[in-house]
Amino acid sequence: MSIKVAINGYGTIGKRVADAVDAQDDMEIVGVTKTRPAFGCDLAVRKGYPLYCTYDDEEKIQAFEKAGYECKGGLSDLLAIADVVVDCSPGKVGSSNKEKYLSAGVKFIFQGGESHEMVGASYTSSANHASNLNGNGTRVVSCNTTGLSRTLAPLYDACGSLTVECTMIRRAADPGDSSKGPINAIKPVLKVPSHHGPDVMTVKPEIAINSMAVAVPTTLMHCHSIVATLPEGHGLSTESVLQLWRSQPRVIVMNGAETGITTTAEVMEFARDIGRKWGDLHEIFVWEDGVKLDGNTLYYFQAIHQESDVIPENVDAIRALMGTMDDWKASVEKTDSAIRRYNGL
Ligand code: NAD
Repeated sequence: MSIKVAINGYGTIGKRVADAVDAQDDMEIVGVTKTRPAFGCDLAVRKGYPLYCTYDDEEKIQAFEKAGYECKGGLSDLLAIADVVVDCSPGKVGSSNKEKYLSAGVKFIFQGGESHEMVGASYTSSANHASNLNGNGTRVVSCNTTGLSRTLAPLYDACGSLTVECTMIRRAADPGDSSKGPINAIKPVLKVPSHHGPDVMTVKPEIAINSMAVAVPTTLMHCHSIVATLPEGHGLSTESVLQLWRSQPRVIVMNGAETGITTTAEVMEFARDIGRKWGDLHEIFVWEDGVKLDGNTLYYFQAIHQESDVIPENVDAIRALMGTMDDWKASVEKTDSAIRRYNGL
């Protein structure tokens, strides 16, 4: 039986999650919502996704017809035919939708712009798939937290204890945003620690982690500078840490000097060469020559494609809530190979 998935908020994340779901053989898109008949509706129409209005307001629904789009109804109509809704509304907006999901009796997945406390659970595939099995709702953590979790969770599992300090060098805006900045400054996040590190503890509470963050004028990716303290007698070396990450799904390790991929610009060019839609990079990119384990202290850099690393996690999170796949690695393999086929790769 196919899991019926609704997407509430067909923006940067929503349109990507819709395609990732559409790629799978155990789930289907029953509808996507737009707040108004803006340009994103054309993509939904082209993809054949039934289009709904984010609101139940009759006038707002009628506006779609007037603009030439077939609108199947309001959010309540969509929720009535869905098993699970993936809320991809802008950060902090999703909380106003939660009551609607609860009263419609559908499972719900929020994104990283919402708080763990509001949702009551958080998710990344590698850290806590099992604790989300058959849950009523969860939150796929932010792009940064997902990135930290991808490399730190297996490291924790390999050595049994981890204390981490990291700095998030954040992109100022997504490529499609015109209202965010800075465009000519480095902007420190003047809340110390930033929320990113502690957010990892919502999916892997065993890792002691703090973070600071700065926003810089770039749109391509985030870059993390990470210092992790391993326990005495950890038994790892720089090479074995690299081996560990190479064996993880959704982590790419490459040598900058050898490949010429020395900045996020080349990482994204490499991603466009892979050929996924929108030039997405679902994997976390670790520079091999930026990794060094010195005694108990591990230093490394990693780059995060903010618009897309969380996309496959949403698919795995759907399976976790629906209780259809207990093994996170099996779900990841199923998700990723379906996306590969979908993109003709
Ligand atoms: P976006 O602005 O690109 O898209 C949001 C969409 O939701 C828009 O189409 C908007 O019209 C619609 N919307 C507005 N109000 C709504 C409502 N009340 N209910 C439903 N939909 C509504 O935003 P985004 O970048 O896709 O972010 C969505 C979520 O994903 C946020 O929580 C964000 O923090 C998180 N996230 C974003 C990124 C990123 O880099 N863009 C990465 C990871 C996680």
